Amino acid sequence: MLEFKNLKNEDPEIYEAITKEKKRQQDNLEMIASENFTSEAVMEAMGSYMTNKYAEGYPGNRYYAGCQNVDVSETIAIERLKKLFGAEHANVQPHSGAQANEAVYTACLQPGDKVLTLTLNSGGHISHMSKATAQSRFYEPIYYDVNPETYVIDYDEVEKLALENKPKLIITGASAYPRTIDFKRFREIADKCGALLMVDMAHIAGLVAAGVHPSPVPYADFVTSTTHKTLRGPRGGIILCKEEWAKQIDLAVFPRTQGGPLEHVIAGKAVAFKEALSPEFKAYQTQIVANAKALAERLIENGFNVLTGGTDNHLVLLDLRNKGITGKDLETRLDSVRITTNKNAVPFDTENKKTTSGLRLGTPALTTRGMKEEQMTKIADLIKLCADSEEEFEANKETIIAEVDKLTKEFPLYNE
Ligand SMILES: *Cc1c(COP(=O)(O)O)cnc(C)c1O
Repeated sequence: MLEFKNLKNEDPEIYEAITKEKKRQQDNLEMIASENFTSEAVMEAMGSYMTNKYAEGYPGNRYYAGCQNVDVSETIAIERLKKLFGAEHANVQPHSGAQANEAVYTACLQPGDKVLTLTLNSGGHISHMSKATAQSRFYEPIYYDVNPETYVIDYDEVEKLALENKPKLIITGASAYPRTIDFKRFREIADKCGALLMVDMAHIAGLVAAGVHPSPVPYADFVTSTTHKTLRGPRGGIILCKEEWAKQIDLAVFPRTQGGPLEHVIAGKAVAFKEALSPEFKAYQTQIVANAKALAERLIENGFNVLTGGTDNHLVLLDLRNKGITGKDLETRLDSVRITTNKNAVPFDTENKKTTSGLRLGTPALTTRGMKEEQMTKIADLIKLCADSEEEFEANKETIIAEVDKLTKEFPLYNE
């Protein structure tokens, strides 16, 4: 258990907010697909003395004195990360996933270069040059979608767009895509049109590390990721690349897009990578996928339209239009019974971004609590009760909350 003796005395308001957040995590069923609970060892590293150190540069080559200890920890982080994914080069300094992506663009693109990338509604991430980002003004994004009938990436369509437009970079990887991505096919497409390939594995990095999803590392010029989703580390980003890009990537992170690295977070990343190299981690990731499959199966039995008919990974996407409820309304109802999820656009969504027709569900955080298929089936039934008519939902609300209570007590998250 983390103790906050000093904080409690010095700043009771912040202490209280943190204490309540811990309780919220304990009392809710966390089903946001991008969230997880990192170990207290990782949190200790993040809350450590390393937060006080400036270390611009890289291990052995810094712009400040006194970097002996952060050099040890950052070097361990890099070596463990390379081992975890079999990568030639690793940079552990990006402050976030979006920063990692920006660094890759900076390393390999010139202003005006064309980039072929997945749309937001088809599951891509905002940092993949969506129109909302600054990068979309510097470079020229061309978008691909999933197939309108199958909702699966249409590789022939991607190839056609690639050959027509001759992009400098092709981006794949997603935030809301329940199927295995064929990285080998993407490599072939990139080679045909002379493009570089970037894979953003933020959501599936844990699955990849454990061998539960094919690895993009052999195929992509650049692999980016967050460290806080299925990988279960501290909030942050990483970049893996081929040796020939090592220097450009390191320069792109510092000094081109970032200043001093967050050495306390990098220490936390090192701890998380050690955990990810353990046999228990493989079992954990395998269970995440088994749980997502069990969840999808029961939701289908309960009359939900599960996009693509199931899942290969840690997440399940629902199109709620046959249920007569919007993503926003179901998210709100679920939150009121302490099941935390997020509304999500479905491909070709007819609702606006703030309402949406879909809901995204993930199993990484519940699996960290030790839940298995049996609990997923139970939770799918609770979700169904929340999607019923308003009167039925209100009539069942207390029962649903009692069931959530039972589950969170049976699978405690933190030792008190
Ligand atoms: C979550 C996510 C990111 C962004 O990560 P941040 O750390 O929030 O910047 C980038 N790419 C993908 C595919 C993601 O899912």
